[in-house]
Amino acid sequence: MTLDWHWKSAREIRDAVQSGAVSALDVTEAYLRRIDAVEDKVDAYTQRWNDTARSMATKVDEKVRRGETAGPLAGVPVALKELLCTRTGKTTCASKMLENFRSPYDATVVRRLEEADAVFLGKVNMDEFAMGSSTENSAIKPTRNPWNLRCVPGGSSGGSAAAVSAGECALSLGSDTGGSIRQPACLCGCVGIKPTYGRVSRYGLVAFASSLDQVGPLTRTVEDAALTLNVICGRDAMDATSADLPVPDFTAALTGDIRGLRIGLPKEYFTDALSDQMREKIEAAIEVFRDHGATIVDVSLPCSEYAIAVYYIICTAEASANLARFDGVRYGFRHPEAKTMQEMYVMSKSAAFGPEVRRRIMLGTYVLSSGYYDAYYLKAQKVRRLIKKDFDAAFEQCDVIAGPTSPTPSFEFGAKSDNPLEMYLSDIYTISVNLATLPGMSVPCGLTEAGLPVGLQLMARPFEEETLLRAAHFYEQNRGFDMGRPPVA
Ligand code: GLN
Repeated sequence: MTLDWHWKSAREIRDAVQSGAVSALDVTEAYLRRIDAVEDKVDAYTQRWNDTARSMATKVDEKVRRGETAGPLAGVPVALKELLCTRTGKTTCASKMLENFRSPYDATVVRRLEEADAVFLGKVNMDEFAMGSSTENSAIKPTRNPWNLRCVPGGSSGGSAAAVSAGECALSLGSDTGGSIRQPACLCGCVGIKPTYGRVSRYGLVAFASSLDQVGPLTRTVEDAALTLNVICGRDAMDATSADLPVPDFTAALTGDIRGLRIGLPKEYFTDALSDQMREKIEAAIEVFRDHGATIVDVSLPCSEYAIAVYYIICTAEASANLARFDGVRYGFRHPEAKTMQEMYVMSKSAAFGPEVRRRIMLGTYVLSSGYYDAYYLKAQKVRRLIKKDFDAAFEQCDVIAGPTSPTPSFEFGAKSDNPLEMYLSDIYTISVNLATLPGMSVPCGLTEAGLPVGLQLMARPFEEETLLRAAHFYEQNRGFDMGRPPVA
């Protein structure tokens, strides 16, 4: 029985640890063995914290032994994305720029997980500074998709998704600026939720695009996503953008009852851009809702076609400002051969940022420069407003919007990496949610003929994560099939 702890849900592990049926240390050891068994194929981890994991687990076991109630994630093995600040290990953002950076503090979400008695197994791979959709932009290594090792895990939280899907952690934290939780969750067959902008503190999340970034969980079940949100959500004095709203018990939303729920299908999400194999699975998922008493309505999000252009103007503009601190003085790599100040900036940044990060800094600087600001940045802000208005109108007709998470299933390494525009297009269905500051989630809805996961995306009004979770949980319990496990080992 102890052999398959690595496939148990976080809730099962938590219950067993709290009740003393298993020790947190035994669960941790099971995961460490699992990582040993598959990591050379998957390559999800950038840092393994075996000693930290064992000592965190031992502390939880001591609590249980003393008769104290262990926390809501007692003994649950977790992997953290490389851009979350941790006092343990390094915080590299998968960049040469920060290859030696040690954070003096823990991100609020990290601290909250620790206070909930979770166990940290280490940190996981990502696209450099969270810029990308395949994890191919990591300066450390590529991570492979456990469903097919020749394919990408998605990105930018590709390490998080691959580790969850391969049974190398029970849950993981990722971040989502334009889809980086939902898209890799979709491509690796796990559950991923991007909470409403402001729902989760970003203190200690290395900023990419500050008006879009959110932290969220990747899990194997919807219930585990709810459980994790209960721990990480809520106001934080260290992040002025965190919302001062009560945090509901998200697990209480998992009622299994969706009668009367109105689900909107945006016609712009079901065009030729969507591959047939994805469309078939998404439509079958919608039928499950219809069969159980949900009302399906057609809605329209007419400004969707501008979302990619708007996003790649706004996120690059914000990135160019946020990444200015990585100049070899305040933070980051300093080129040893630079002789003048000018050389120091140019040589350090040229040597330590990868091509995609450099491209975005240059694009962002351009759209913010005087003479181009109105034509690009200001116009993008105006269209962002219109995208938000589309959602406001659609949510007058429905409670949840449903569609695909990604236009295609996972693809082979190299298939899109030479063509940035094509890579950007893989974000078509996810970025509007960030631009409109809504909660969005991806839930597995089947496998293609080639055995690659497909994800259904659900979106809701701001701060209505409960509606999302209720719908996703209902679907997961009633979809009528099991996703099975990835073929890796
Ligand atoms: N793929 C998108 C990008 O490259 C989204 C990234 C993210 O959400 N961090 O910007």
